Amino acid sequence: MNLTIGHLYPDLLNLCGGRGNIQCLMKRCLWRGVKAEIKECSLMDKLDFADLDLVLLGGGPDQQQYQACSRLRDFRNEFQAYIEDYGVVIALCGGYQMLGHYYDTEGGRTAGLSLLDLYTKENKQRAIGNIVLENSRFQLPIVGFENHRGRTYIGDNRPLGKVLYGKGNNGEDKTEGVIYKNVVGTHLHGPLLPNNPHICDYLISNALERKYGQGRLQPLDDEKELEVNQSLYKRFVG
Ligand code: GLN
Repeated sequence: MNLTIGHLYPDLLNLCGGRGNIQCLMKRCLWRGVKAEIKECSLMDKLDFADLDLVLLGGGPDQQQYQACSRLRDFRNEFQAYIEDYGVVIALCGGYQMLGHYYDTEGGRTAGLSLLDLYTKENKQRAIGNIVLENSRFQLPIVGFENHRGRTYIGDNRPLGKVLYGKGNNGEDKTEGVIYKNVVGTHLHGPLLPNNPHICDYLISNALERKYGQGRLQPLDDEKELEVNQSLYKRFVG
């Protein structure tokens, strides 16, 4: 089995530990004998979502976020078809925000791609700090670090998790991130995946299921990863 992981605009959207997440995805595939090929896509490349099994869209400074979002508009319909067909996406911070209807930055309001039914408003105070979530679909908590001005409102969508510690989507409704079909959007940096191997495996498993109809993954020795995950949970939640 093999998976092609598209890393979108790593030269622009590199604030959220994108490469660490890519390494984690790759290693956890390879350790199970799944070949993972990374396709780094830069701004001038033509994106062909039919070639991709998993897409990572990171976050970046306002200007770079704007550039990436403008370019993605050229492929919006293909991206939408991929998402609606259960294509796997992990979108981080600015990458997450641009999937919604709009997002605000210091420079004003920018139209997003409207691929997800959510929006992001600006708040002058950044939400910065450690964050811990829980979601009963996962056996482990989700731990990370957030750093965003945007406040995201997801309406009736399912969140990635309930906030146990930290601010999350908007600091008001105790939600963080979103899960829509096989898209995971979140403000969590970290990088996210090394400390949350269950989220990494969730993405890999969904991609394999979609491609091969078989997403069951061999367990790995996650002693170190679990130690970190648990110690952050204990430190901030108790
Ligand atoms: N500009 C966005 C915000 O601060 C996203 C930043 C990022 O991707 N880290 O909300």
